[in-house]
Amino acid sequence: MSRHEGGCHCGAVRFAAELPDELVPALDCNCSICRATGFLHIVVPHEDFTLLSGADRLTSYRFGTGAAEHLFCSVCGVKSFYQPRSHPEAWSVNAHCLDEAPELAIETFDGKNWEQAKAFLDGE
Ligand SMILES: [Zn+2]
Repeated sequence: MSRHEGGCHCGAVRFAAELPDELVPALDCNCSICRATGFLHIVVPHEDFTLLSGADRLTSYRFGTGAAEHLFCSVCGVKSFYQPRSHPEAWSVNAHCLDEAPELAIETFDGKNWEQAKAFLDGE
């Protein structure tokens, strides 16, 4: 594991995340909000993530079941990480918001059909 830093566009929100040294698994989701924002998910367990700055700049948006908490910077509007519904024990970090892009192993996540996609993810 090694430490990567990233954040929003204006620099108000900054975070550090511990990521695997080898290929970093990433999920490319086709749901309504991920398509609109171009979000590329790296799932980071809560304990491997540190918010360095910007807690007071984060604005929250919920829709649908309300289980996910979409967090975006109130200054520049960029969603650099958020609490996903699929992984309640982890944050999802936007690969596009890391300072230096790690090598990714990208898999697709059919978030448009969330229930089935989550079952597949869980190996059901
Ligand atoms: Zn910002």
